[in-house]
Amino acid sequence: MNGSLMTMAELTASLPSYNPDAISVKMAHDLIAGFVTPVSGIERLPLRYALGRVLAEDVVSPVSVPGFDNAAMDGFAFCARDANLSGPLALDVVGYAYAGHPYRGDIGDGECIRIMTGAPVPGGCDTVVQQEHVEMAEDETHVVIPAGTVTCGDNIRKAGENLREGATVLAEGTVLRPAHLGLLASAGLPDVAVRRKVRVALFSTGDELRTAGMELDTGAVYDSNRTVLAGLMERLGCEVLDMGIIGDDRAELEKALQNACRNADAIVTSGGVSVGVADYTKQVMASMGDVVFWSVKMRPGRPMAFGRIHAGGDHACLFGLPGNPVAVMVSFYFFVRDALMHMMGALPAPLLTVRAQAATNFSKRVGRTEFQRGVLSQNADGNLTVRTTGEQGSGILRSMAEANAIVVLPEEGGTVRAGEWVDVVLLEGLV
Ligand code: AMP
Ligand code: MG
Repeated sequence: MNGSLMTMAELTASLPSYNPDAISVKMAHDLIAGFVTPVSGIERLPLRYALGRVLAEDVVSPVSVPGFDNAAMDGFAFCARDANLSGPLALDVVGYAYAGHPYRGDIGDGECIRIMTGAPVPGGCDTVVQQEHVEMAEDETHVVIPAGTVTCGDNIRKAGENLREGATVLAEGTVLRPAHLGLLASAGLPDVAVRRKVRVALFSTGDELRTAGMELDTGAVYDSNRTVLAGLMERLGCEVLDMGIIGDDRAELEKALQNACRNADAIVTSGGVSVGVADYTKQVMASMGDVVFWSVKMRPGRPMAFGRIHAGGDHACLFGLPGNPVAVMVSFYFFVRDALMHMMGALPAPLLTVRAQAATNFSKRVGRTEFQRGVLSQNADGNLTVRTTGEQGSGILRSMAEANAIVVLPEEGGTVRAGEWVDVVLLEGLV
């Protein structure tokens, strides 16, 4: 796909300690951020089809919501401004107002109307007293408001208190959740301008990979990365082009990448980025464009290639993720997610990090950031504690399924003992 991007030279010139085969997690993150740009292309969608999409412009409300002062309670509307509320106040009931059915008469001194929640408060009235707080005559023709039950202005929802006409309702870049769509609906807007979906080409690499239904010969494994990545990216709101499994073969890989480059904004692959003799992704990537980095000081996920490739007049950024299933997920959450969100035109939404007390030891080596799988819970005092899921091998996908959080152990630190405090990223609800 087409678009303008910063050159590799411009980008790396700004980074004094840039060493592409061993960079810190932060630098990897910053490098990627400098490389990706939002896709162009806007479409207008009815609200019902806009869930999860990214707002392409600021939305200004054409009306105030609510459009009129209205009752927040079922009760009686009257003018309290000049009334004496320190003693019992007797009022005649002169009419009714229901939601959708305003009272159209006048209301004088010593008078009130019966009003239902949502009904317009008539001009001249400034207060609604809740019906449970008054004494009403059996024939409902008058009420007595006991002293001290209400103050002037009570129980009125003011015009414009939700949205003001002419004010910005939602900012460009908002990822539309149900509440956002509701707000737009409340302003009477039938549709909304959103960015087109980011198209991501996805394939797994490895001669050993098989898909479900195929026989597992010796040395073969079923491909799980594609299923995981497709899920992660679809939840994020991307359009995934599933290109299947590509063997460990230079020519095949090059063809797949050319194809992907022509049809997608970004390419996400797994496997083949390590230093094994059959790991071709990085080499092919270098022959087709720039490899910005290929190794990050982290675990799991050390081998990870990021760059940009060209094919004909098209280019796409390429995330060459590791093959190990846990490493795939960790690199997605900590690098690819932010990058794709930026490409989607979404406002930054950093992963939510909380502090929790370690309930178990977390063994760790100094010199790399470690992302360990944890189970976060809240004890009886309300404090957050986190325990390890156990064995942390980067092939143990079960640990990701059992975890509800990732414990982020910084590069400079070593083993964490039970009782110490750690940074924890919540996986629950994460897109
Ligand atoms: P690689 O990075 O290609 O050396 O792969 C590292 C490990 O991850 C190997 O054990 C692979 O078999 C495994 N692996 C690679 N791709 C996948 C995949 N798509 N699904 C499951 N396991 C994989
Ligand atoms: Mg491989």
